Amino acid sequence: MRIGQGVDIHAFGAGDHVVLGGVRIEHSHGVIAHSDGDVVIHALCDAILGALALGDIGTHFPPSEERWRGVDSRVFLRRCVELMQQHGYALGNADITIVCERPKVAPHATAMREHLALDLGCGVGSVSIKATTSERLGFTGRGEGIAAFAIVLLVPHGA
Ligand code: MG
Repeated sequence: MRIGQGVDIHAFGAGDHVVLGGVRIEHSHGVIAHSDGDVVIHALCDAILGALALGDIGTHFPPSEERWRGVDSRVFLRRCVELMQQHGYALGNADITIVCERPKVAPHATAMREHLALDLGCGVGSVSIKATTSERLGFTGRGEGIAAFAIVLLVPHGA
């Protein structure tokens, strides 16, 4: 088995929605990002790449490359899943925590889990989405940005 962790942070900026776990959520702000700024998927990709010791999301999808501008982050996730499968692994489980004061995550958690499970090739029961505020402390507490933390366990394919 292999374990991996990933962290991603984006600042809030102008806009009217954020994308989290592949789900579009109406919000008073957007996020400043080269892609769609989906912190959940970016953290998850880094966790998968970390488990495989294959570098990070910046290595595979450099923000300097124009082709990744505004891209749906699920493209990144599907590529990471391909790499996982090519290396002989399947997803055992993933546990993700989102840190922000707003938007409210809980009403969208089930939809996120369904989207992610589809891309990960696993059951919804193997994908956990949790959320917490930071009690108004720090950049997340001041509503300046959003953070996500992911841990994955990869198991040998067919195990
Ligand atoms: Mg990111």
